[in-house]
Amino acid sequence: AKRSGRNKFCFYSRQLTESANERLMLESELRRAIERKELELYYQPKVRLEDGALIGSEALLRWKHRQRGVVSPDKFIGIAEDSGLIVEIGEWVLHEACRVACAWNGAGKPLHKVAINLSARQFQTGDLVRTLRGVLEATGCYPEWIELEITESLLLDEESEVLEMLKAFRSLGISIAIDDFGTGYSALSYLARFPIDTLKIDQSFIRNVTTDRYSAELVKAIVTIAHCLEYQVVAEGVETEEQAAFLKTHGCEIAQGYLYGRPMPQQEFECLPLSFNET
Ligand code: C2E
Ligand code: CA
Ligand code: CA
Ligand code: CA
Repeated sequence: AKRSGRNKFCFYSRQLTESANERLMLESELRRAIERKELELYYQPKVRLEDGALIGSEALLRWKHRQRGVVSPDKFIGIAEDSGLIVEIGEWVLHEACRVACAWNGAGKPLHKVAINLSARQFQTGDLVRTLRGVLEATGCYPEWIELEITESLLLDEESEVLEMLKAFRSLGISIAIDDFGTGYSALSYLARFPIDTLKIDQSFIRNVTTDRYSAELVKAIVTIAHCLEYQVVAEGVETEEQAAFLKTHGCEIAQGYLYGRPMPQQEFECLPLSFNET
């Protein structure tokens, strides 16, 4: 028993070492990913439930690695955050998303907001407000064409000037969304102090919304509270017509999920219909 215990230990410890090496390798490869043009943004449609109109998208990062194929953000965003690389990658994302927002907006086109994910680290390093202003200027993107998605945990960082930065974005005309809402720790009174436009209900609540009473009640409560605070509500992870119907009935404005489309390359997105309304 003792020996097998030790073997087990060796086995796990070797696995740990391998995964640490793996992380190091990914990190050094990620350092070169931008210059090698291996990063790409995919776009997932956001649909207004009232009439099925395509009103925006979320930009989601993909890493097309030479040998590994497409690496999922869950595998490399954490590494990018821990190593600080997210700051440079994040700037690339901002630039690229704003460039595409220009192509999708402007003369005669209906407003299409492109949502961009930001990591806490990007608020803590450098001058994000200045960076973003520079990107808007360089690309010709209007502030109204983008939305920034941040997570609740960012609002708990009392040390940094997050509140001031969010106010600055707001005064530029950029809207702010709280991502993964319901999975973090923010007290509602706390949330109300921040300039926020949109709450995105986390997909874990949407998954069971038509099968589990508890999820259904939670989603209804979140929508009610959001509207009291004058936030717009986006449901993420919408996969079925039943979920969409429930959300529409209970006043959720916008839906995003595989029901309408997976994240896809820019060119593919440009072939989508402007309305998801069958009939
Ligand atoms: P997120 O911001 O919560 O993005 C939503 C995730 O849910 C995406 O995963 C999307 O592909 C997935 N999803 C969308 N609809 C459905 C659905 O109907 N069912 C299911 N099961 N999943 C759905 P993805 O693209 O793998 O991204 C994972 C996470 O990586 C994102 O979660 C975000 O936190 C992070 N991320 C992605 N791109 C960026 C970026 O440019 N910057 C930063 N800082 N983080 C990013
Ligand atoms: Ca997001
Ligand atoms: Ca989310
Ligand atoms: Ca998430």
